[in-house]
Amino acid sequence: MITIEVKNLVKNYGKIEAVKGISFNVNEGEIFGLIGPNGAGKTTVLRIISTLLKINSGSIKIMDYDIEKDADKIRKIISYLPEDAGAYKNLTGRSYLQFIANFFDPKKNQQMVEKGIEIADLDERIDDRVDTYSKGMMRRLLVGRALMINPKLAILDEPTSGLDVINAQEIRKLVKNTAQAGTTILLSSHNMLEVEYLCERIALISEGKIVEGGKPKDLMNKYNANNIEEVFTKVVKQ
Ligand code: ATP
Repeated sequence: MITIEVKNLVKNYGKIEAVKGISFNVNEGEIFGLIGPNGAGKTTVLRIISTLLKINSGSIKIMDYDIEKDADKIRKIISYLPEDAGAYKNLTGRSYLQFIANFFDPKKNQQMVEKGIEIADLDERIDDRVDTYSKGMMRRLLVGRALMINPKLAILDEPTSGLDVINAQEIRKLVKNTAQAGTTILLSSHNMLEVEYLCERIALISEGKIVEGGKPKDLMNKYNANNIEEVFTKVVKQ
């Protein structure tokens, strides 16, 4: 089953052509990574798939839904973690998760909050106000928020950015387990080790176009590279 089908996607911001005709598919339960230099268009693609930005041309289907016609239905089955997300600063971590869970099925929202708390793993700090959290603690809370709702598709923009090694590893394990439990994951990352560890397939975006893509192992073979960082450098400098 295909969860995301993107065909000839074009997105302009005024005169800036951010995405210049991108096509790719993501299969159900897969972890798919978008990588590329700063300004390549990754966040734009993720925001479009999250229904937050309109497209100029092309088409996108999420499961059986069309992104332009069925945005409301899509919003119910996806979860988006923005790159620079924050939470309501005057709430505690727990009350923030509760606030978000209240938008969903009342029968399930306590279960959701508990799952969010477990994912965030902030111990007693979950009852402190969000404005006392460090950057990494905030990120963990937001990953908890994004994954606690059991989305069919989670869209994670640099999920481990700003996290220390141990925290980043934990989040990666969590992302992997979430995919194993059936959630499809589309993520972006500048961390090539992360991409290699997590992603079944990747697409390398440069200047608004997909310039390379496939399974990390196959790409390393193709470019005679020891890791994805080498592949990245070779492709982007071509
Ligand atoms: P990074 O790795 O730095 O986060 P990215 O690959 O996510 O970059 P985007 O944020 O999608 O890249 O940006 C793609 C292009 O679109 C860039 O040229 C950027 O300047 C431009 N852009 C993004 N958002 C806007 C906006 N709101 N208005 C105008 N131009 C924008």
